[in-house]
Amino acid sequence: MSAAQYAVDGAVAVIRLDNPPMNTLAHALREALMRHLARAAADASVKAVVLAGAGRAFCAGAEIREFNTPKSIASPNLRELIAAIEALDKPVVAAIHGVAMGGGLELALGCHYRVAAPGAQLALPEVKLGLIPGAGGTQRLPRALGVARALAMIVSGDPVKSEQVAGTGLVDEIVAGELVPGAVGFAERIAARRPLKRLRDLSVTADAAAFAEARKKAAKEQRGYPAPARAIEAVEGSTTLAFDDGVRNERRIFDELVATPESKALRHAFFGERAVAKVPDVPEDTPTIEVKRVAIVGAGTMGGGIAMAFASAGFPVTLLETSREALERGLATVRKNYAGAVARGRLAQGEMDARLARIGSTLSYDDIRDADLVIEAAFEDMRVKKEVFAALDRAMKPGAILATNTSTLDVDAIAGATSRPESVIGLHFFSPANVMRLLEIVRAKRTSKPVLATALKLAKAIRKLGVVSGVCDGFIGNRMVEQYLRQAGFLLDEGALPQQVDRALQDWGMAMGPFAMSDLAGNDIGWAIRKRRRVERPDFGYSAVPDLICELGRFGQKTGAGFYRYEAGGRAPIPDPEIDKLVLEHSRAMGIERRAIPDDEIVERCIYALVNEGARILEEGIAMRAVDIDMVYIAGYGFPPYRGGPMFYADTVGPDKVVAAIERYAKGYRGDSWEVAPLLARLAREGKTFN
Ligand code: NAD
Repeated sequence: MSAAQYAVDGAVAVIRLDNPPMNTLAHALREALMRHLARAAADASVKAVVLAGAGRAFCAGAEIREFNTPKSIASPNLRELIAAIEALDKPVVAAIHGVAMGGGLELALGCHYRVAAPGAQLALPEVKLGLIPGAGGTQRLPRALGVARALAMIVSGDPVKSEQVAGTGLVDEIVAGELVPGAVGFAERIAARRPLKRLRDLSVTADAAAFAEARKKAAKEQRGYPAPARAIEAVEGSTTLAFDDGVRNERRIFDELVATPESKALRHAFFGERAVAKVPDVPEDTPTIEVKRVAIVGAGTMGGGIAMAFASAGFPVTLLETSREALERGLATVRKNYAGAVARGRLAQGEMDARLARIGSTLSYDDIRDADLVIEAAFEDMRVKKEVFAALDRAMKPGAILATNTSTLDVDAIAGATSRPESVIGLHFFSPANVMRLLEIVRAKRTSKPVLATALKLAKAIRKLGVVSGVCDGFIGNRMVEQYLRQAGFLLDEGALPQQVDRALQDWGMAMGPFAMSDLAGNDIGWAIRKRRRVERPDFGYSAVPDLICELGRFGQKTGAGFYRYEAGGRAPIPDPEIDKLVLEHSRAMGIERRAIPDDEIVERCIYALVNEGARILEEGIAMRAVDIDMVYIAGYGFPPYRGGPMFYADTVGPDKVVAAIERYAKGYRGDSWEVAPLLARLAREGKTFN
């Protein structure tokens, strides 16, 4: 079957892109379009052409399945296709519905006219992959829409709706009724008009203020991303260069960006989003369990957030607690959080009411027995978990999925408290669970494949990024972050202050530094873990500073003070001279002569600690692939996407250089905290990479 269909309606040829599901510009589609354009050109009875998409969309751009294959650049490429349209002596009308994105919008811009269905989304999202449009988008869009609006679209990469641009050169007309017949009618009306309206023939005037404004905005909001500034440069070319020179300039910038580590990292993250959903031994056709009703045990911080995540996605949820008071407290927090979103204008009151109406509550297991999925979010205590799972085993219908939100406990042991370990899985949400995108899906030894496949599907349904982890203390994310926090602590002993460590890592691209992050999560959580480690792993050293801070009752934002102080009700960390004093006195008491620590050292020690533990996690098979670790860090820990995640970043630096740095630090203060992970050492030796 051809990837595009050809039909004639009176004097109008209708060519339909037909490469399901989103009509991406695969080589076969480009070839078919070329063929059909030639046919329309040759048929004297055809006076105009409509280019439309079959199925869900006009065209979502490049075919990612052909990325990095010869097909992606094989002739006819998109530029040749657009040139063929522009060379036609009959008008071509793009009829846009669903989406016209990236190359799809560039194709539409190559047409003489564009009509669209209401609600169609138009975007040039290339900056999100560290690139710019590469088939004339930066030259034609300003000619269609004016410099200011074109800049806004190209530099943000965000979509606009067809109605917002109706009546501009981007969308000539909105077709209210059926799109293709409407487009054919439009084509008949304009068929005789000459000269043909080609965007490339227009000129566009410079708008110095718009460029200055865009540069300022990009520098502030997209720090660390190289593409926005280059996109502005390309658009500027549309105002200073002849069309073909502008296109050549765009191409040159595109080629330079493709080679940057940032763009490679962003593309890695883009593919990572899809890669994490694939589990090699769980085929795509694995049967899944239908989840219609959800129950949650424990209505505390996590239980309430998880309930919101499901209710917001349309699932009916029942919260189960041990007392009426605990239930009321939990529900009140849920209401308060939704009300906050309404007050900020992010949620409509009606939608809040609908979501709240989906959340029920109970004190009895009898009321949740019909749930298809139950998630336990009770206290982090193995005795409590085992009790709850034994009760769930008695109460829940056969086949129900029994999940635990434990952060550190052994999911195999929890499964052992039931007679159906194959139904048990970990669903590790991050706080606040209604906001954070990451969901670690913990595959226990006996978790069945349908249960795992269902969890992966559910993650999507509640708009989370599900990443599979094996069972170990801390799973992927928290096990690695412990090493990161240990290094951050040692840096305080040796000469740094919390605000310096945080600033260095933030300047490097982390959304938040480690100490501000601890203050947000609650310092008492780490304190409890360190107390446990002292018994379990006496070899595992820590700086005493975080403990000293906890002993002062400074648990972070929730107590108004931690590594920083906070204004009443505020969330902005304010450096606190009290803490500076505490840190200096601690070094003195330990007999350490403090030294000025360069920012590079801070970044290397903290980030390489992640890499090194990540290598162990990979070697132990806790993570299936390096990309899973990278996605955990990007989606859950504020790791800069343009650095691709810790393992990808190590690949960029070179494992040999990472090893050399760790070996150097292993000779310094608390060098005993470092030992190069065997996998990392092997990659360095063999000149290989993680990804
Ligand atoms: P929390 O103390 O805020 O809430 C726990 C709730 O469980 C309380 O309301 C308590 O009344 C209820 N509960 C206790 N025993 C129960 C039982 N037998 N039956 C029904 N309800 C019971 O704790 P939290 O922070 O929400 O943590 C819950 C779980 O989630 C823990 O396992 C924790 O490790 C994990 N977790 C926490 C975070 C976090 O950042 N807080 C992040 C990820 C995972």
